[in-house]
Amino acid sequence: MTQTIAMGFRTWQALLRSLTVAGLMLCAMLPVTAAMAQTTPVDETLEQALNNYLNDLQIEESVGREQLEAILAQVDETTPLSTRIRALSYLALVHQYDGDEAAAFAVNERMLAMTEGSGNADAEAEAIANRIELLQAQGKQAEAYLVVSDAEIALAQAQLPRVRFYVHNLISRIYADWGKYSDALEHLISALEAVNETNDDRTELRRQYLAYAIAQIQTDLAQWDDALETTTKAITDAQQFGLLENVPDLYLLKSYIEVSLENYSEADASMQLAMQWAERSDRPQIKLISLNNLGDLYIRTNDLDRAESYLNRALEQALALDDERTEQMVRFNLGFIDVKQGNTDSGLTLMREGLEYFRAAGRKSDLEQILGEIAEAYEVAGQYRQQAEALQEQQAISKELWQLEQQRNVTELQNLYDNKDKEQQIKILEQQNTLKQRVIEVNEQRQIIGLLLVIVVIFAGVFLWLMYRAARRANLRLKEANSQLAFQSLRDPLTGLWNRRALQQDMEKREQHGDRRQQDQQQTDGLILLDIDFFKRINDKHGHAAGDTVLIEISKRLQTICRETDKLIRWGGEEFLFYLRDVDNDRMKILTARILDVIAREPIMHEGKVIEVTTTAGFICLPFAGVDETLMDWEKVLQLADMALYTGKAHGRNRGVGITELHVPYNEAREVLETDLSAALEKGWVTMVTIEGQDSG
Ligand code: GH3
Ligand code: MG
Ligand code: MG
Repeated sequence: MTQTIAMGFRTWQALLRSLTVAGLMLCAMLPVTAAMAQTTPVDETLEQALNNYLNDLQIEESVGREQLEAILAQVDETTPLSTRIRALSYLALVHQYDGDEAAAFAVNERMLAMTEGSGNADAEAEAIANRIELLQAQGKQAEAYLVVSDAEIALAQAQLPRVRFYVHNLISRIYADWGKYSDALEHLISALEAVNETNDDRTELRRQYLAYAIAQIQTDLAQWDDALETTTKAITDAQQFGLLENVPDLYLLKSYIEVSLENYSEADASMQLAMQWAERSDRPQIKLISLNNLGDLYIRTNDLDRAESYLNRALEQALALDDERTEQMVRFNLGFIDVKQGNTDSGLTLMREGLEYFRAAGRKSDLEQILGEIAEAYEVAGQYRQQAEALQEQQAISKELWQLEQQRNVTELQNLYDNKDKEQQIKILEQQNTLKQRVIEVNEQRQIIGLLLVIVVIFAGVFLWLMYRAARRANLRLKEANSQLAFQSLRDPLTGLWNRRALQQDMEKREQHGDRRQQDQQQTDGLILLDIDFFKRINDKHGHAAGDTVLIEISKRLQTICRETDKLIRWGGEEFLFYLRDVDNDRMKILTARILDVIAREPIMHEGKVIEVTTTAGFICLPFAGVDETLMDWEKVLQLADMALYTGKAHGRNRGVGITELHVPYNEAREVLETDLSAALEKGWVTMVTIEGQDSG
């Protein structure tokens, strides 16, 4: 029975070794040099300290614990994430090594929390890889396998060669465990690429490890020629670069390949060398396996004496190492020799003992191999019925093993998927709840927003309405002010009567309606111009204020005569003008008499003083005596009234003088009329009438 060493890397011992030998090659040993192209930040000093920690650990397993603690004491929040994660991953592995799984996982959970979403792919990949290592170490192979894809995602973005080397290797190992050799090889190649980015004294060691890993996969795949080539090259390289620790394992692997190739003499040589190197580098287990395998080899070649001699040495070694399993294996092999030598009973007894041992130990894979060999022994002994039984059992175990393996994989994965599925369902439910909550919140928010909008709209409406009202008021006031201004601009401030401008406006309108008036020549308007008599004297005698009072009082009295259609104007200082609608000379005579009377009839009182007032008027029709207003406009007509007024003054005041008729064509009389009224009178061109005022008081 042959013992292979391939299994050594897959079991719990693998972790111990990964911390010591293989792990050193895996995890570490990529001192980051400044020349290396990289963007992920690391703390160079701490990275070097971690390298040293692993170096020391390699030399002696017990050291390093305090060293790691000292390093961790220097790690704080300012330390680059990649370096922190690396240090913590070693801490997690130490906890795992100590058997404290909970502590190991707690550290790993922290690492995952720190790296998730950090954007640091190196740190993330290393944290997930650490998870995988812990799961592997705890025998949770399927769970570890499921995490691999997460690690691969992070790994795709990872930059640090150390991380890439470590994680690719780890993933490769897991794929190999699950029989996914092509994936495993792909990752080994990626690991190799990472190694090639480094160039230091450890580079060869790393390459060596990779060669070893590749050779193992080739062995698993029964690609013997390739496996042999890889292993041979690895041995040459190891010796060339002085990496002697791996040489015993490599020779043992090489011999195993050679046995499979039935190159027995080469296999012998390799086993001898494995033994020598094992002794040199103090690897007694390798020596024991080599001795047993040599015995097995010579059983195959029927060199039974030599076989027995090696097996006896192996037995001695197994007892010395207190390795019961190998001891049983050796005894079993010795039994086979007995059978072959014709000592059938004693030989078969030994072999059956071994068979029972392995049956009891429950290692079906060992049992399967043993049953195959015992069947061979029964054949040699001619015991064909037992041979058949053994082969049947072997077959059954083989089938069972296969089914077990399948079941293990399937059920473990199924359980995990189920759990993940449940987690997923819970997550979905939670998300749905969150979503519903959000919808409710959003609706509430919408309602609030709607309400706010309504309020805003109402306020805006009210505001706009107020603004509109204010604007309208302002407009009204403006209009009012404007109309007041307009009003004031046409009024005399002292008396409140119309002023000259007002008359001018009226006359402009009159001119615009000239056509209508020409058609209706019968209808005339009238102008009566007044001038207070001796007004200067009033001012002089009673003061200016008294004069004002007189002006105001006269205005009031004149207004009593006015019809609505008439216009009373303060023409000048103490001059007033009536503009009367639809009046003739007769009507004006009456009005003039009333004017003279209303002013003179009662004296005006001012501060207890009696002021006698009379006035003189000149009146005339507009148009005058049928003369077209385009020939004799209102100003010329008024000028004539003014002349009449002064005629009145000249004839003693307190009287009204009217020019009532024109007896010659206007053109003929025009020049005279414009300059000298008395001349026109003398010529008899015009008729003048006088209205005598009553004596005042
Ligand atoms: P007559 O017309 O009869 O010939 O004599 P008169 O004294 O009225 O003559 P005149 O027209 O020369 O004098 C007008 C005076 O009226 C001169 C001016 O001081 C005065 N007067 C003009 N406007 C006002 C006014 O608004 N208030 C007062 N108190 N006096 C005014
Ligand atoms: Mg005057
Ligand atoms: Mg006067």
